[in-house]
Amino acid sequence: MPFDSLSLSEPIQRAIREMGYEEPTPIQAQAIPLVLEGRDVIGSAQTGTGKTAAFGLPILTRMGGHGALRCLILEPTRELAGQVDAAFRQFAKYTDLRICLLHGGVGYGPQRQALADGTDIVIATPGRLIDHLEQGTFHLKSIEYLILDEVDRMLDMGFLPDVRRIAGYCPAKKQVLFFTATLPPEIERLAAWTLRDPATIEIGLRRSPAETVRHAFYPVAMDQKFELLLALLDALHYESVLIFTRTKMAADRISERLIAHNHPVAVLHSDRSQAERTEALAGFKSGKFEVMVATDLASRGLDIAGITHVINFDVPESPDDYIHRIGRTGRAEAEGDALTIITADDLRAIHAIEHAVGKRIPRQKVENFPYHYTTLLEDRPIPKSATRPKFGRKRR
Ligand code: AMP
Repeated sequence: MPFDSLSLSEPIQRAIREMGYEEPTPIQAQAIPLVLEGRDVIGSAQTGTGKTAAFGLPILTRMGGHGALRCLILEPTRELAGQVDAAFRQFAKYTDLRICLLHGGVGYGPQRQALADGTDIVIATPGRLIDHLEQGTFHLKSIEYLILDEVDRMLDMGFLPDVRRIAGYCPAKKQVLFFTATLPPEIERLAAWTLRDPATIEIGLRRSPAETVRHAFYPVAMDQKFELLLALLDALHYESVLIFTRTKMAADRISERLIAHNHPVAVLHSDRSQAERTEALAGFKSGKFEVMVATDLASRGLDIAGITHVINFDVPESPDDYIHRIGRTGRAEAEGDALTIITADDLRAIHAIEHAVGKRIPRQKVENFPYHYTTLLEDRPIPKSATRPKFGRKRR
């Protein structure tokens, strides 16, 4: 089905033609007619499925041209907000609609000015938006379209009360688009409160990264993890590799050590300034840095094309985090590799991951690496008692 059968406005069609979009993705084919009709929508599509255009193109078509502030989009992280802002600017290129990005970590002045100059669309993270609302910089009384994106991530980050408050500042009559991968009770309550007679868009339209990615575990003794990482980087033919650590401190430490070994790396975690985060991401996307070291901040939602390898320097805290991390490679059905360095301490976590991806992940060795002894290298069958899913965190 071509895009021109979907009743999108001419300026929008022109922009997406220029962007090289030829056919709508499945979520776009489903969502665009519903959104154009004015329906509320609840969708569980993940980033990477064309979700941004699925809501962006019909909303921009409905909005037409410059007027009052009518559209509010909430995103859980600055990076996602920035990504949606960039996509919207491309989609709206041939309209006179104005877009304003509001997130923390940067000064208030330019944001206040952009609001004062008049904007049609605000894309924001909840905290900074509330700051502006409390300071009286602007109000949400003219909102006609409210998009709550990655709501489950907002829940994880403790933003749900803010989201509810913000939705409460909008007029009762509005079109709401609500995206979440899971529906735990808190989110179901929020959905019941914000949505009116929503149409549901199906999940599972993209093959899960668990299927499209090649997985491997690399067992090693604890004191050789970094050495093994270096050996892996030497052995791999990568174009770009994203290395995940569990903590910000580990991310900093690993990147310093990699730099000392002449690997140009970018670092992304939440203690870095907004300028540093933007520079890291831009440098990684442009290929200036072939390696980026990140905490789980980067594991959800970011659309970075062409990551050939994900290396988990630390085994992620939960199988969900594993799925999100490896989802950064193998995007849009392209194949990618996910390598996880494991130690004897990680036994339970790795069996929980295998349970979540539904298969046994092969243990591999790096050729000619001077391995110290670790029992994991013996690759024994998995004892039944170790397959219980995981410590602490609830599985979703
Ligand atoms: P998203 O799920 O919105 O993060 O989109 C994932 C990627 O797919 C982005 O790089 C989009 O530019 C791209 N994309 C979205 N829709 C289409 C389409 N219909 N044709 C080609 N590329 C698309």
